[in-house]
Amino acid sequence: MPSDFTEEEIARYARHILLEEVGGTGQARLREASVLIAGAGGLGSPLALYLAAAGIGTIGIADNDTVELSNLQRQIAHTTARLGASKTSSAAAAAAALNPLVRIVQHHIRITAENAPALLAPYDIVCDGTDNFATRYALADAAWRAGKTLVSAAILRFEGQLSTFRPGRNTAGAANPCYRCLHAAPPPAGLVPSCAQAGVLGTVTGVMGTLQATEALKEVLGIGESLAGRLLTWDALTMRFRLIRLPADPDCPFCGPHAGPGGAAPESEPEALDAGMSKRPTPASQDDDRTTP
Ligand SMILES: [Zn+2]
Repeated sequence: MPSDFTEEEIARYARHILLEEVGGTGQARLREASVLIAGAGGLGSPLALYLAAAGIGTIGIADNDTVELSNLQRQIAHTTARLGASKTSSAAAAAAALNPLVRIVQHHIRITAENAPALLAPYDIVCDGTDNFATRYALADAAWRAGKTLVSAAILRFEGQLSTFRPGRNTAGAANPCYRCLHAAPPPAGLVPSCAQAGVLGTVTGVMGTLQATEALKEVLGIGESLAGRLLTWDALTMRFRLIRLPADPDCPFCGPHAGPGGAAPESEPEALDAGMSKRPTPASQDDDRTTP
């Protein structure tokens, strides 16, 4: 148990500290960690609440919207009383009410390719809960270039998907994929409907945001099996979860060996969470298992 834990911290985090995989050391890691939540909506709500509850020391919340009535069917960090407030201030209020020991930093901005690098620079891990492709690619590219782990979730109608993009190699020595290995480029505008157009069951955002928060905590703690190199999909109607192997694409124009000068070798060395993990993405043509879906 870190000797500087207060009585309040020991009591508040007692159920974590009981876990052999977390303990006082892990709880101290959570307190030292900083996580950026991009999007304070359906995914960002459970992210903000659970990461605050877990004692993540610094939580950034980035969004440029205000709370609207149609948000409250699923965005449970917000309240009817806070209609019209900025989503960052509303989510920050919810998180601070749950755990006043954590520091919440509000970024009331629209995330772009230009401002993403500076936005995520102070954070260890980025959680993408945004709802548009421009922002997703801006975050994914900036996170990869900075060597930071990105935990990315997406939802639509009754379905969700989740993966982790961590520059470097997995414990088996294979290069981890980047976001563009999965989706090389944004789809043409209008091809993929948004939740505003196609709808979403409110609980789907809660389940996926909670799974995303779980993966972020695992990445901070360095426990369990990362979703790096794997894609989780969930269909609420059939209640089927699927885990799909997601190998790095050797021809990826962003992280592959043929990436151009704008390419994506991380500018700084990511902290290796796996013992023995190589810290720099390199081609993995020796991986003969990459045809597995
Ligand atoms: Zn790639």
